[in-house]
Amino acid sequence: MTWPDQFVQQMQHQLGEAQNAFFESLETPPPVSILLNPGKPLPFSSDLDLVRWNSHGRYLPSRPVFTLDPLFHAGTYYVMEASSMFLAEAVRQCVDLSQDLKVLDLAAAPGGKSMVLASVLSADSLLLSNEVINSRYQTLKYNVSKWGYPNIWTSNNDAEGLKQLGPYFDLVVVDAPCSGEGLFRREPEAANEWSPEHVQHCSARQKKILADTIELIRPGGYLIYSTCTFNTLENDQNAEWLKKEMDLQPIELNLPEEWNIQATAFGYQFFPHLLKGEGFFLACFQKKGNPSSVKEGKSKGNRSSLQKISKKEKTAIRPWLAPDKDFTAFLHPKTGEIHLIPASLEESARHIARQVKKIHLGTILGSLKRDQLVPAPAWALSIWKSEKLSSVELGEMEALQFLKKNPLPVEKIPKGWQLITYRGQGLGWVKGLGKRVNNYYPNNWRILMDIPQEHTSFW
Ligand code: SAM
Repeated sequence: MTWPDQFVQQMQHQLGEAQNAFFESLETPPPVSILLNPGKPLPFSSDLDLVRWNSHGRYLPSRPVFTLDPLFHAGTYYVMEASSMFLAEAVRQCVDLSQDLKVLDLAAAPGGKSMVLASVLSADSLLLSNEVINSRYQTLKYNVSKWGYPNIWTSNNDAEGLKQLGPYFDLVVVDAPCSGEGLFRREPEAANEWSPEHVQHCSARQKKILADTIELIRPGGYLIYSTCTFNTLENDQNAEWLKKEMDLQPIELNLPEEWNIQATAFGYQFFPHLLKGEGFFLACFQKKGNPSSVKEGKSKGNRSSLQKISKKEKTAIRPWLAPDKDFTAFLHPKTGEIHLIPASLEESARHIARQVKKIHLGTILGSLKRDQLVPAPAWALSIWKSEKLSSVELGEMEALQFLKKNPLPVEKIPKGWQLITYRGQGLGWVKGLGKRVNNYYPNNWRILMDIPQEHTSFW
């Protein structure tokens, strides 16, 4: 592979003799890794290699066709580059994870960092997973649905669109749009877009995003800034700017030497010739000032349009939920769908809905029609659904046929709503009608590729 001359010069300058090992590593196949969903533990053991810096991370021996694994569609794991799973360790060292926190993932699509965050936060913490570009926001919503957590909410804004919230969050993660040098091994053609001017543009854009974002962090709260690039103009120089111009306090992390993560002046850099992962940079900061939380519900703004469901409706939906879950249910004013959130987050939901446009709260349970619930696709994937729902377990081939919306064996499907499961994990809904089965898997989620008769699973 031929890399842009100025990129080679940049890496020579940055790495000295190590540049040979660096460029050689770019010629080797990228490792394949997944993040396991702790909310959906697998009912079998696997001997996959562990990612050192994230207990939910696993390497696969080769890249399978993920589309042909029903467990991928069930959200039991997310396909994610290993270095960027380091966010969990950084968060663990910055904040007290036994507390219920308010966390913003500002640049969240397609969702990897949000999955990492949700996997370490307490069940009553709030994670607002935000993405500015609408098409990418739709992908984010789909991935968050698959992960299945009622405390991950999504919104479609930039930092400016969230500013009404004021200094609201205990932790803000800015996984910034960057020049992407760290992904050149996976996508060598991306190097064609690279130029020193593009790096400068990315660096300046990051400063603007970061400056807008700092206003959203409460005094004493934390900022994590990350990129998937190597150059210092975006990484360390922006981190230095955060310290000097934005008056943030850099946080030093304590990392085992054998992880081979390089400490830079203000952050931590991952190089592919030193560890099993792609290029990644991360720096942590604390905002100065005395910790104080924003009082919810007292801020000015539009009246919250959130309407709670009636007692009767609450009784009607109760059997669909795991019995130990304390929930609040809101009716969406336009769609009539019921959104479920942890009861402890009701005030946060009202506060955020008052201040922020284009927000999606919690998990959609479904809609009530004549006191009967029509379950939503997202509910099949929820970690809060009841384990006692009427369900039909399918084998791998049948599960793939379900996901492709091909006909299912009618004799296997009892009458009424049935949760389709594969290895115990929910995939979606069908309704048995006796002589026919209606498949409610969303058209835009379904498998499009042809399903081969045989293939080998990596599990
Ligand atoms: N955090 C994501 C993950 O782990 O899957 C990857 C995020 S990607 C590196 C950067 C994201 O920033 C993109 O989704 C991009 O649309 C978004 N973005 C671009 N301009 C932005 C802006 N001005 N403010 C906030 N986000 C922006």
